[in-house]
Amino acid sequence: MPGVLLIAATTGYQTRSFAAAAKRLGIDVTLATDRCHILEDPWGDNAVPVRFDEPEAAADVLSQSPFDGIVAVADAPTLIASLTAERLQLPWHPPEAVALCRDKHRMRESFRAAGMAVPDYFRAPLDSDPRVIAERLEFPVVLKPLGLSASRGVIRANDAGEFVAAFARIRRILDDERAGDAIQVERYIEGREFALEGLMTRGELEVLAIFDKPDPLEGPFFEETIYVTPSRERADTQNRMVDAARHAVRALGLQHGPVHAEMRANERGVYMLEVAARPIGGLCARALRFGEGRTLEEIVLLHAIGEMPGALRLTPPASGVMMIPVPRAGILEAVSGVDEARRVPGVDDVVITAKIGQKLTPLPEGAGYTGFIFASGVEPAAVEESLRAAHAQLNFSVLGSLDVL
Ligand code: ADP
Repeated sequence: MPGVLLIAATTGYQTRSFAAAAKRLGIDVTLATDRCHILEDPWGDNAVPVRFDEPEAAADVLSQSPFDGIVAVADAPTLIASLTAERLQLPWHPPEAVALCRDKHRMRESFRAAGMAVPDYFRAPLDSDPRVIAERLEFPVVLKPLGLSASRGVIRANDAGEFVAAFARIRRILDDERAGDAIQVERYIEGREFALEGLMTRGELEVLAIFDKPDPLEGPFFEETIYVTPSRERADTQNRMVDAARHAVRALGLQHGPVHAEMRANERGVYMLEVAARPIGGLCARALRFGEGRTLEEIVLLHAIGEMPGALRLTPPASGVMMIPVPRAGILEAVSGVDEARRVPGVDDVVITAKIGQKLTPLPEGAGYTGFIFASGVEPAAVEESLRAAHAQLNFSVLGSLDVL
């Protein structure tokens, strides 16, 4: 039985999806995790505890056992996965490439050095005076904390006043989280946004899917909502996205394993926002089915053990997911309309991940979603419509008030 090392920060939904996929494929999974963050432990004592803040030591421990492949769930364990792969002489993304992916500033530097389209950008230490910085800016800009992910703390500013307020707001978030000491300021890139899911085999990128993000992402905060594939963009724009992704993975030195890229396209071209050395996050992978119905987790696991499953065609003609936004800050008291949402034509499933009694915090301070809606169909437009119709059925009662989404 082939053995895969699965490194995950938490034993959340995505980790369980990988475990279930491994079981279906007859792959033996060893879970390694940062135990301090574990709230539940479905694997009992089989999980190997490692410290994510000590990647070299963690890799020393994990490389004591032989594995046929390694999978990292989410960004946090990618460096440990890479170092462990290096010690075990398994193909993976190299440590330096993974480190670049996790640093929004160095990633931009790599893209610029490779001649890619990048917005003007610079890094401002947290203790700078934002009023002085604002004097030399051309607006609009985007401020983003170095050290957070999932759009947390990312704020658009249209003028000096907004810039100063956003800077102070991010400073508070970073002070609370102790998550870094600098803010990256970038020229705002107009345009439509897309995500690209890919799989790299010894330096070659195969594109699995391009997702349109049909909701406008114009700020001031950048909450992800709907992803629909295949893209409805013209073929030449899609080709430019694939070219940009190939250019980006080469610039970063990514080699082997899943990649997830986010980009913006406008009349001037395609701007890579970021590339991550991991598959799409959360439950979003459920929007993808390949060939005879293989899940993305199955594909990633098979690829990790060196069994590339052949040409990967998406199974339904069109599919999509909606990350259900946090309706407002407060305590979640009740969710209704889930059954009605599930009955909307084209909807495959509705999963509410937020727990009753949970504190909800929207962007930019908070993160995460209240759940996911999945839909599929013949046309991307119909899938988008199903997702919106299902979302309209959901009611979230937060802190005593009924918010109709
Ligand atoms: P994170 O890793 O926290 O998700 P990103 O750099 O991907 O941070 O930014 C999050 C979102 O903010 C992007 O998906 C995009 O919608 C928006 N964004 C980031 N940078 C820019 C920019 N320069 N211009 C326009 N929008 C941006």
